[in-house]
Amino acid sequence: MKPPPLLRLRPGTPVLSRGGGQVQCGSDPRWSFVLSGLTPGEETWLEEIAERRHVTVEQSAARCGVPAERRDEIMTALFRAGVLVPVPGTVGVVTAQADGAADATVLGMLRPDGAGLATLADRARRVVGIVGLGRLGTAVALHLATAGVGGLLLHDPLPVQVTDVGLGGLRAVDVGQARDDAVRSLLAERSPRVTVRVDSSRAGGAGLDPTDLDVVVVTEPHAAHPARYRRLLGLGVPHLPVVVREADVVVGPFVRPGRSACVTCVDLAHADADREWPALATQLRKVAEPTHEATLAAVAAATAAGQVLAQLDGHRPAAVGACLEISLPAGLPRARPAEPHPRCGCVVLPA
Ligand SMILES: [Zn+2]
Repeated sequence: MKPPPLLRLRPGTPVLSRGGGQVQCGSDPRWSFVLSGLTPGEETWLEEIAERRHVTVEQSAARCGVPAERRDEIMTALFRAGVLVPVPGTVGVVTAQADGAADATVLGMLRPDGAGLATLADRARRVVGIVGLGRLGTAVALHLATAGVGGLLLHDPLPVQVTDVGLGGLRAVDVGQARDDAVRSLLAERSPRVTVRVDSSRAGGAGLDPTDLDVVVVTEPHAAHPARYRRLLGLGVPHLPVVVREADVVVGPFVRPGRSACVTCVDLAHADADREWPALATQLRKVAEPTHEATLAAVAAATAAGQVLAQLDGHRPAAVGACLEISLPAGLPRARPAEPHPRCGCVVLPA
């Protein structure tokens, strides 16, 4: 693998001296890389390319007296390790068109080409539907807007409650207004570059028109209602249920229609484990919605938004084939596997 002509240090990579002719690039164990047997001039060169980004790697090598042959050898090793990446422009012209530009360096760490701005440009073209806008759903909306998602379609015609105020950003003045209208106003202030629409169809099911949506997040109380997700499943729209229970929240499964366990699969597994489950679920749907406790809402909103962004960015969300359970007082997401159920038929299982 021959390096392309124009390279730079992957943005955000710390270059650290280990002494004895060793230099370590990066501190994350997934990709940190140690070069050994370096001369003092070569060490200075590597430290300089981390500090002086307006000078090319080659100019810096010449200034530190590193011979061309040795320079090329070290650059090839660093390129293969992913420490050197192509300079922007050789990966296509990209700009961050929405919010999220602050995230470019970190997002670049997850890409072979280091081009975090390309991830942001892609997010800016995506639209996410959010159904249910209490504290938790509102926090998901704000998180996705801050992360640079270009469009949000909101649905929750219920009035803002006093208990919705605070985390997520709804204010005392919003109480009594339709939640989706209130969140749209909030986003217009906080993230004016995001296109926000309110779905006024007030339709049944998941509650919004899923056409052209990349992902739909549905927050609901007590137990996910399989019927609400049938249309999304049928149209092949990826979706994520977020279920608020007494003192925990379940994020998932993230449903890739036809490719991973769906809400009905999980419901059928629940009924296998407890034959009274269908009757209990029917009763639960009549119980008042639990309030969204601050820690649970914060952790669950960040977890849910992280799943959506992983999907948009082309990674596999951790909640595909799993329910992430977050309970108090620990507040840590714990994954419980969710397999396709043979009686559901949403995924073609091997014979
Ligand atoms: Zn299924």
